[in-house]
Formats: sequence, structure tokens, C-alpha cells
Amino acid sequence: MTGASRGIGRAIAERLAQRGAKVACVATRAENCADTVAACNAATDGAAAYGVDVSDHAAVNELVKNVQAELGGLDILVNNAGITRDQLMLRMSEDDFDRVIDVNLKGCWNFMRAAARPLMKSSGRILNIASVVGITGNAGQANYAASKAGVIGMTRSLAKELAGRGVCVNAIAPGFIETDMTAEIDAQAADALKGSIPLGRIGTAAEIADAADYLLGPGGAYVTGQTLVVDGGLSL
Ligand code: NAP
Repeated sequence: MTGASRGIGRAIAERLAQRGAKVACVATRAENCADTVAACNAATDGAAAYGVDVSDHAAVNELVKNVQAELGGLDILVNNAGITRDQLMLRMSEDDFDRVIDVNLKGCWNFMRAAARPLMKSSGRILNIASVVGITGNAGQANYAASKAGVIGMTRSLAKELAGRGVCVNAIAPGFIETDMTAEIDAQAADALKGSIPLGRIGTAAEIADAADYLLGPGGAYVTGQTLVVDGGLSL
């Protein structure tokens, strides 16, 4: 479970632990996951914290090997780690473009590549956290939208590649969810955004965990290659 230290990732990690999973909680530094690990262990023993930059291919391979050895296998991979570096395209630096693609898109590929074999053995599940912006686009987020559209395309491709081994690969595309990531948006812009959501409110991390629960639980056994939009109607 990447990006498990806070926000949406923490909510999904805790939900997985409530369902009986031993959760490997991954963030940039293991200590950032201390609270999540404690909350997961309160539900099911065996959660552990790991630190890695998801964009580092070799380090991700090593980490997935360690997780398998320490937690005794791999049944579910959730790629949730993500960043924004928003700017209108003409002002966006090459570094801001590359970094968002490296973390959000390549990070997701790194983990799927490293975890594919063990997940084929367990007929496991993969869930990628994309964004509704990967479907609709958004001014000032060309890098982020491209990374999330890439995640959606990669989800569909991997679903086709791994279906024969019983692995379901899906994505969730959240809309505007209350986390540290959206706390950066200024109050005026946040109000305008809220006004454009048909359900009239910002979503919660728990509501994304509800969707993850469905896709990763028994109800999701015949669902693969899909992107479940959870956005209060924002993209309608
Ligand atoms: P958040 O609160 O900013 O948390 C981001 C998480 O990603 C943290 O756990 C962070 O770890 C981790 N992370 C960032 N860069 C990393 C890297 N290079 N290597 C390893 N871990 C890294 O974000 P959030 O709002 O919960 O978003 C989670 C996911 O949902 C993201 O993919 C985001 O794009 C997507 N999403 C969010 C929204 C929204 O409205 N919030 C909407 C659509 C999609 P550290 O604590 O160590 O930094």
C-alpha cells in the first residue's frame, strides 16, 4: 500500500487491516507511517512501515522482496502515492513535468512490475489510485492529468495481461477529496470547485476507502480493467 502515511492511502490501509490484511505501509520514509501502522495493528497484527521513493525502480524491487519475506506473501497491491506540481503549461518547468510523471506514473509501474509475479501466484488484486483529472483534464495540471491518464491506460493494459492468471487490475478516479493535497488549494478556488460538484460537497478519504473495499473485496471478483469514478458527479 503506497502513500499510506496520510490522506486516502491511510484510509485504505486501515480499511484493509479491518478486513484482516497485514498491511505493508509505504511512504517516502518509514517513520511517516508510524500512526498508520499503529492504527492497522489495532485491527490486525502484522502491519509494518517501509520507506522508499516510488520512482526508484531498483529500490522498489528490493522493497517488494522484503515485504514478501517479512509479511509472508503478497495478495493485494494498492498504488496510491502521488504528488502535484501545478502550473500553467507555459510556466511549468521540465523538472515539474518529469517529477510528477516519475512519481505518479512510473512509481505505479515500478510496483506493478515488481509485484506481478507474486500476485500471479496468489491470483491477487491491483488497485491504482488515478484521478478524475486524468479523464477530464484540468488547466494548470498538464503533468498531473497526463500521469493519471497514463495510470488509467496502464490499468486497462495490465488487466488484459494478468487476467489469465486471475489477477484483477482496477483504478479509482477520485474527484475533490479532503486531504493534505487539496489543502494547498486557496479558499476561493476551493469554494468555486465545491460549487461545481453536483453533490455539493468535497469527498472524504473514507469514501474512497469504501470504493477500494468493494474492488478489493469479494464483490470485485468479476471486475477488471475498470476505473471507478468517485467524484460526487464532478465529471458529469
Ligand atoms: P497526500 O495526502 O498528499 O499523501 C500523499 C502520499 O503519497 C503520502 O503518503 C506521501 O508520503 C506519498 N508519496 C508522495 N510522493 C512519494 C514518493 N516519491 N515515494 C513514496 N511515497 C510518496 O495525498 P492524497 O490526497 O491522499 O492522495 C493520494 C492519491 O490520490 C494520490 O495519488 C493523488 O493523486 C490521488 N488523488 C487525490 C485527490 C484529492 O482530492 N486528494 C483527488 C484525486 C486523486 P510522505 O508522507 O512520506 O510524503
